[in-house]
Amino acid sequence: MKKSKTGRGRQKSGLLPELMAAHQKRTLLIRLLSLALGAATIGQAVLLAQAVQRIFVEKAAPASLIAVFALLLGVMAVRTLLAHANGRIGLRIAADAKKELRARLLRTLAANPLITARQGQTGGKVSLALDTVDEADGYFSQYTPKMIEASIIPLLILIAVFILHVPSGLILLFTAPFIPLFMALIGIQTKHKSEEKFEQLARFSGTFLDSLQGLVTLKLFGRAKRQEREIERSSLSYRDATMDILRVAFTNTFALETIVMLGIGIVALELALQLVVFKNMQFHTAFLILLLVPEFYNLLKNMGTAFHGGRTSLGAIRNIELTLAENGIRETQTAGQSDNQSVRGNTVTGSTMMGSTVTSDVDAASDLGASRGDQTPAFAASQEDSVPEKSFPPAIELSELSFHYGSDAFTLNAGSLLIEPGQQIAIVGKSGSGKTTLLHLIAGLLPPSSGEVRIAGRALTQASEDDWFKHVTYITQHPYIFAGTVAENIAIGTDRDVSRTEIVQAAEAAGLSALAAELEHGYDTIVGDGGRGLSGGEKQRLALARAFLKRPSVLLFDEPTVGLDLHTERILMQAIAELSQQATVITIAHRLHTIRQADRILFMEQGRLIGSGSHEELLDTLPPYAQMVEIQRKGITT
Ligand code: ADP
Repeated sequence: MKKSKTGRGRQKSGLLPELMAAHQKRTLLIRLLSLALGAATIGQAVLLAQAVQRIFVEKAAPASLIAVFALLLGVMAVRTLLAHANGRIGLRIAADAKKELRARLLRTLAANPLITARQGQTGGKVSLALDTVDEADGYFSQYTPKMIEASIIPLLILIAVFILHVPSGLILLFTAPFIPLFMALIGIQTKHKSEEKFEQLARFSGTFLDSLQGLVTLKLFGRAKRQEREIERSSLSYRDATMDILRVAFTNTFALETIVMLGIGIVALELALQLVVFKNMQFHTAFLILLLVPEFYNLLKNMGTAFHGGRTSLGAIRNIELTLAENGIRETQTAGQSDNQSVRGNTVTGSTMMGSTVTSDVDAASDLGASRGDQTPAFAASQEDSVPEKSFPPAIELSELSFHYGSDAFTLNAGSLLIEPGQQIAIVGKSGSGKTTLLHLIAGLLPPSSGEVRIAGRALTQASEDDWFKHVTYITQHPYIFAGTVAENIAIGTDRDVSRTEIVQAAEAAGLSALAAELEHGYDTIVGDGGRGLSGGEKQRLALARAFLKRPSVLLFDEPTVGLDLHTERILMQAIAELSQQATVITIAHRLHTIRQADRILFMEQGRLIGSGSHEELLDTLPPYAQMVEIQRKGITT
């Protein structure tokens, strides 16, 4: 993984010291509390050793020890409270730091929304602002207080043990450094792994969101299964990165436990020798040291765990810092200036950045989800009733077809109608008249509320989704472009493996070859979320190239409403005309030229199909149609 030099440069000045500087008072308080905690820990051990000495060695009456027990309880309560207070302060620092990090991220990303939108996948950025910032939590809530505690309390215990018995103190002094030494070794190992983990997470989030946004496109091209495998692959890489870190963490814990056990064992052995063999130590002192030693090692061990958690959090903070640094530097550049993107975990490479709008099928997908909630599915679950191959292009029959989005919402009544194989159909009507809804019903993207759509004589609801989508291509006004190369985006058109030649041929047929020639990396240029932007016309041509690979027998097309340049329009029309030679084409048409060329025009008004016929027939029989044509003509001449 390469890192941008600028990012590293900023690292020196440090986001962390900046964030911690805001909490100097709180860290000072943690230090003072830790000092008190150390005193309480030693006090508790002294009182406990005294109680044991009095009861078991001096055989004192338990009643005489009430004051000692009360004091012991008091010290224990104080110790618990102090530990709790330290934890609370850590949580406060974490909450404030996370708020600050999110605010900084949003500020930086929002400072250059257009440039930011073009760089990196959206999922990666969402994951950065949510998950990565959450991962940073551990540094402030765990690592900082535990490290402060570990730098103060063991020192106090060590002094106490030295005062009590120098050899035991020396054992502690010589074994203790193994713990930080070991941690440093582990730290070096986990450092890259935790950064890698965030990289994998960002990649996984990016792929997941991209797939979700383009779900309808994937379904229509029968690519959902393949994408499922892609998501599986990136989720497995994330799992592997996490498991790697956990493996190191478990080994770490095991090694630390061993060091601690050995340390305590050696001290205990030495105390036993002093007590039993040399008889030059009092039981009270030996017991007190035995109580203090585990506390000493436990604190160092906690420091190990906190250190490991801190490493993961540091990886997260580092990622955030890099994003802030990159965007911070970009802020100073002039907008529109070309930018060599650095290759980051959540960034897709690209050498030039052009205007890009993030359009998605997600609206359609969520709409479908919402409206399909309590209705029958658009397709049969079984594969048995497949549509026979030989009947393609098929006759499409609407039978008393109606649909409503909800009880009080828009209702479409299309009635009954037969679209013969190979016909060119134009659906025409004002905006909001229900053209898209009708096309979605024909495509099988929406289930009819009543009536049915029949394909080659068989109800669409009885057909298998895969079988039907094998024959259909639906080119929306904003086809979804996945984050990937132009070639990969064209290859989405079919589920089989395609050669480069086939992709190039499909692109040529769709009029994309000139665009590919202009691109720096040709068909290998990264487009989609995080890549080079494509215009509406280019996206539609790319979708047509997918269709050329697929050669559908039913082509559904939503003609662009915005003005395309004449050249693009001609290319689109030619491509559609070529595809229509072996297909039934149903177009939501806005241009008079398209409308007039259709074999049959379906005229929609307020959700009803009020006319169907050729241009001439409708001109004579349907005044609203004649009126619309008149307006279009004036629009063209004026
Ligand atoms: P057109 O394509 O002719 O512009 P549409 O079929 O997109 O018309 O929409 C017809 C009507 O249905 C509009 O009033 C629109 O607001 C409504 N509509 C579209 N999608 C939904 C939806 N998912 N839920 C509720 N109403 C919708």
